[in-house]
Amino acid sequence: MSTSYDVINPATEQVVKNVAHLDLAATDDVIEKAAKAFLSWRHVTPGERARLLRSFSQVVSDHREELAQLEITNSGHTRSNALWEADNVANTLMYYAAAPERLFGRQIPVPGGIDITFKEPLGVVGVIVPWNFPMPIAGWGFAPALAAGNTVVLKPAEYTPLTAIRLGELALLAGIPDGVFNVLPGKGSVVGNRFVTHPLVRKVVFTGSTTVGKQIMVGCADQVKRLTLELGGKSSNIIFADADIAKAAAGAPGAVFDNAGQDCCSRSRILVQKSAFDSFMEHFEVAVKKFRVEDPQLATADMGPLISKKQLDVVESFLDEPIAFKGSAPSGAGYWMAPTVLLPKNTQARSWREEIFGPVVSVMVFEDEAEAIAMANDSEYGLSGSIWTRDVGRALRVSHGIDTGALSVNSNSSVRFWTPFGGFKQSGLGRELGPDALDSFTEVKNVFISHD
Ligand code: NAP
Ligand code: MG
Repeated sequence: MSTSYDVINPATEQVVKNVAHLDLAATDDVIEKAAKAFLSWRHVTPGERARLLRSFSQVVSDHREELAQLEITNSGHTRSNALWEADNVANTLMYYAAAPERLFGRQIPVPGGIDITFKEPLGVVGVIVPWNFPMPIAGWGFAPALAAGNTVVLKPAEYTPLTAIRLGELALLAGIPDGVFNVLPGKGSVVGNRFVTHPLVRKVVFTGSTTVGKQIMVGCADQVKRLTLELGGKSSNIIFADADIAKAAAGAPGAVFDNAGQDCCSRSRILVQKSAFDSFMEHFEVAVKKFRVEDPQLATADMGPLISKKQLDVVESFLDEPIAFKGSAPSGAGYWMAPTVLLPKNTQARSWREEIFGPVVSVMVFEDEAEAIAMANDSEYGLSGSIWTRDVGRALRVSHGIDTGALSVNSNSSVRFWTPFGGFKQSGLGRELGPDALDSFTEVKNVFISHD
């Protein structure tokens, strides 16, 4: 029994396209096809694999406008974000295109012979993508996986399959052999779960909710399947009184409301040193009111709608603490919500503790460095965060003190394809991106060759 899904434009609530879903049998067929393609892809010479990935990157660049349009329509992403996201796929492919020719092993001194290590590809890698950043999160999985010599099966989120489907077509256009990179629209419980249970899928890369991530971890245990998890976050934006308060406040809306707050790195807790609170809030209110929530097609849009009615309802359920102020949002069709700033009564508030995944931020004060670190660490998550101070020693001490995977000082950006990304605690397992990502898409093989 096959099913399908009506993709909805979240800014208009209009149906964009009906997408057919793969059932279990069709999923198995594609996995088997990817396993067959692996037998030749792994032997494509390093220089040729690099050339094909550069070609894929170029074809993505050539289609950036089309990909961005698809994402604006499918996901409600702002035009500037959607272009950045298409470019991020091209850039990540280009970065890992350098890898096949540099996938070095070691030569280790031993008695009686020589010892060398190989980095062997795993086989078929299953990438499961959420709806919040359909293009970049897909690329962070498939680019290094392909570079290391694996083939890929990729499941987009039910809400947001359109750019992934197009990337699958562009790969073929770029000359990537049939069966090497496969996109499988379908349900998480069918296609996604099959990546976990099918023995020919040797690794799962999952980004999404912590709840589903834990189920996948349990499932992968059965075959000791390799696994990377990128899960939720509850990250802090910590503002010390010695910081450039005006600059920290001007950047704070983007740090949490970008992508309508549907970002695992969103700084949804703001911690302000007590003596700077009034000054910060004054500047912050101006910045929130200036944050433009509007038709995401407009070049001026800072934020579009949320992904779905369901997500909007969940996010609105968090508005049960005192509201400091709000921004604005369009009315009428679409899943719109005004950016909202809360002043929770204490650290037990749901809005302080849980990942909201919407345009809601909570502000609390702290007295000193030790309290700021303790408050930031008082979470089961540890994905990202920001520290604003002019004191270098403090920036370093606090960076060491916070249990989180990606911090920025006097900046709110945490993701760069050159550097490792991933979480502490229940924010995940393993790291993506950066120079070491190939290690999680290869197995180390040790070979001893006797002198005799
Ligand atoms: P989710 O349920 O964890 O879904 C993420 C991906 O996993 C989707 O492709 C989904 O497919 C798939 N999936 C669902 N159940 C599965 C299963 N049993 N086995 C294998 N794959 C499965 O996340 P969501 O429902 O989209 O979002 C819920 C919440 O998760 C959000 O509100 C947010 O708090 C959090 N979230 C975090 C991130 C992050 O980057 N850390 C990203 C997205 C969401 P379907 O779409 O077909 O269900
Ligand atoms: Mg779900």
